[in-house]
Amino acid sequence: MPRTSKTTAHASPPRLPEACTRFPLLPLFPCPVIKAILTDIEGTTSSIDFVKDVLFPYARQRLPAFVETHGDTPEVQHWLHEAAKEAGLVSATRQEIIDLLVGWIDADRKSTALKALQGMIWKDGYASGEYRAHVYPEVAACLRRWKDAGKTLYVYSSGSVPAQKLFFGYSEAGDLTPLFSGYFDTETGPKREAASYARIAQAIGAEPASILFLSDIVAELDAARAAGLRTTLLARAPATCPADGEHRCVADFDAIDAD
Ligand SMILES: [Mg+2]
Repeated sequence: MPRTSKTTAHASPPRLPEACTRFPLLPLFPCPVIKAILTDIEGTTSSIDFVKDVLFPYARQRLPAFVETHGDTPEVQHWLHEAAKEAGLVSATRQEIIDLLVGWIDADRKSTALKALQGMIWKDGYASGEYRAHVYPEVAACLRRWKDAGKTLYVYSSGSVPAQKLFFGYSEAGDLTPLFSGYFDTETGPKREAASYARIAQAIGAEPASILFLSDIVAELDAARAAGLRTTLLARAPATCPADGEHRCVADFDAIDAD
């Protein structure tokens, strides 16, 4: 029996009036109050350069000494073994595994073992005060103001959830982790797919139209909007807002309308 159009309509995710995302200042459509704010990190709360210029070179530089010093702890041993297995090495010296891992860093290889080891090295660097995660100067105050106004705050970044927690735990503005109610990474799904945002809305337990997503990447905002979320594009200097952009666009957090 063919499905009725009514059934089909119920099967698709709830859509808010397009005006809420495209022209939210027009008073013609009642848009739901924003209850939750979901933010990207790189290019949005923080400079892309910090990860590229500080974190990745630090892990590359420290990896040999880290493996030498911690190579006998069960957790490190586990990931070294996993890396060797991934490379198809039956028996490898510690130095061979170090060379392998450094090569993977240079090739930007997406390896779970490498990611885990990098995470441990970054944790050491944060904890010993080697660096602090960059956040743009107005970000912490805005996050606090939104939280004080009763909004819940979430992070969605391609960096792993443990890396996100370290990032905001040791930021230039201090420990910001108490401000966030949850973290999402690509385990939830790719950032340019609408289904990921539908899953996040479900996990947050809020209707998509009451969630505001902040990002510097238009393709991510397009995906979020397709799932019914509200969107704002961050165009941090020297970037500028596109002339015919389809998302609200601001230069910094102070200009975000989160009501
Ligand atoms: Mg970004």
